[in-house]
Amino acid sequence: MASFSVTLPSGEIWTPRFVAELNQEKCIGCARCVRVCAREVLALVGVTEDGDIISIDPDSDEDEEYEKKVMTIAHKENCVGCEACSKVCPKKCYTHAAAEL
Ligand code: SF4
Ligand code: SF4
Repeated sequence: MASFSVTLPSGEIWTPRFVAELNQEKCIGCARCVRVCAREVLALVGVTEDGDIISIDPDSDEDEEYEKKVMTIAHKENCVGCEACSKVCPKKCYTHAAAEL
């Protein structure tokens, strides 16, 4: 099956690889990925002792109601497949996939 690809102004063919999954077991909540994503696809959340998910501000250290922080894919539909998130992730949490035509 063919994959969706784009011809760049340079003439190069680029196949976007869209974010597919995020391994939260490996994620350390460092927020590097959300800072490089220009499309607001990702959201850092807090996980409480009881396993509840609460929203948090990635730039603030003040809210300590959660036990750990973890990244989530909040708006997959906004992803442009640039893979910037994977390039900065120290734990290799992401998998990407090309869109099939
Ligand atoms: S591939 Fe690009 S647009 Fe998609 S989540 Fe990662 S950084 Fe954001
Ligand atoms: S860069 Fe990787 S380890 Fe850090 S918050 Fe994002 S997914 Fe988690």
